[in-house]
Amino acid sequence: MDFTLSTEESEVRDWVRTFVRREIMPLEPEVLRRERVGQPAITHAELAELQAKARDAGFWGVQTPEEYGGMGLSAVMTALLEVELGRSFVPFRFGGAADNILFHANEEQKQRYLLPTIEGKRHSCFAITEPGAGSDARNIRTSAVQDGDHWVISGEKTFITGGNEADFTMVFAVTDREKGADGGVTCFLVDRDMGWKSEPIPTMGEWGPAALVFDQVRVPSENILGEVGQGFVLAMQWIGRGRYLLPARALGACERLVEMGIEQAKTRVTFGEPIANRQAIQWMIADSAVEIEALRWLVLHAAWQVDQRMDSRQAQSMAKLYGGVKANEIVDRVLQIHGGMGYTRELPVERWYRELRLLRIYEGTDEIQRRTIARNLIKGHATVRGTLG
Ligand SMILES: Cc1cc2nc3c(=O)[nH]c(=O)nc-3n(C[C@H](O)[C@H](O)[C@H](O)COP(=O)(O)OP(=O)(O)OC[C@H]3O[C@@H](n4cnc5c(N)ncnc54)[C@H](O)[C@@H]3O)c2cc1C
Repeated sequence: MDFTLSTEESEVRDWVRTFVRREIMPLEPEVLRRERVGQPAITHAELAELQAKARDAGFWGVQTPEEYGGMGLSAVMTALLEVELGRSFVPFRFGGAADNILFHANEEQKQRYLLPTIEGKRHSCFAITEPGAGSDARNIRTSAVQDGDHWVISGEKTFITGGNEADFTMVFAVTDREKGADGGVTCFLVDRDMGWKSEPIPTMGEWGPAALVFDQVRVPSENILGEVGQGFVLAMQWIGRGRYLLPARALGACERLVEMGIEQAKTRVTFGEPIANRQAIQWMIADSAVEIEALRWLVLHAAWQVDQRMDSRQAQSMAKLYGGVKANEIVDRVLQIHGGMGYTRELPVERWYRELRLLRIYEGTDEIQRRTIARNLIKGHATVRGTLG
């Protein structure tokens, strides 16, 4: 078993590490200042400028296939890059990406939706959750009724990331109520100017999602993504596209947070000694370090399974669950080590505290991951002996 990165892998990782240190971390004080006055962390223009800088060095479309101008990096490599990006709370992402299911578009749809999205000229959002159906996504009620060569969509979606800015959505609607999620849900590509409306939903984090309203929106049949009735399969594919990436990003945040915690422990003196000398503080640091290491291997193992084209669902659910739970425990400990200062907006700890909370909710809550993991074990699809046999 060889855990060493190849020369190429460490070079790619190191380039991103340096990029984060030189280009992204210097923006952090300004991001905190903006947060205090209720402004977004970075503007679209600033993000585009950073993405262009990265593109000049070849970092564009990290997971986009090379035939579309991307880097087509492996899942392991992408996870390693996400860890580096996660070390800063500045919401940066590389350009040149498109939702995985858009690659199922036909040639004409690719020209209208996929290619402009990769180029950053169009912005999509993925809309399945409804006020009455989140974890239970099979229970969606938004309907699409055929009317000649059009479909008429009615219903409401909620918590849609990017829904305030998107100019088109990939929306999931019931086209056959009898079949439901088993062949009766279809995905439609719907431009904003076809008539859907969005309303921002304020949250405790940076990422304000949107509620989307479809009031008899007419969509041409040519805008069906994939096949009629195959939408639920696409939705699951979207959600499963990279469950290992969310905890990878959190892992980077945890590394940075614990480094901050160690620094604070060494410099903060109480009762005549640095708090680093106290066992209570040392145990917080030690437990966090062990959990970070465990998370690293869960994430990389899940990513490795993706690269091997193995069924990675169990490993991905484990990484997502563990990452969400442990990242929240770690940020809480680091906040505790900082005492009152940890609770203020002078430091980024409270920002991370709010942001990391989301990881336990979206793209499958903790409870839904546990349900998946337990079901796989009980039904015999997985064993507790892992992949080593
Ligand atoms: C910031 C943000 C961004 C999001 N982005 C998107 C997006 O881009 N697109 C999109 O479609 N959705 C998005 N979502 C929706 C997200 O995926 C759902 O919120 C999530 O799946 C949970 O669904 P819910 O909120 O309806 O909670 P519910 O499903 O109502 O769950 C409530 C509680 O009950 C628990 N629970 C539910 N069922 C069970 C069960 N069987 N056993 C045990 N416990 C259970 C849950 O774990 C949870 O604790 C986003 C959400 C947020 C907050």
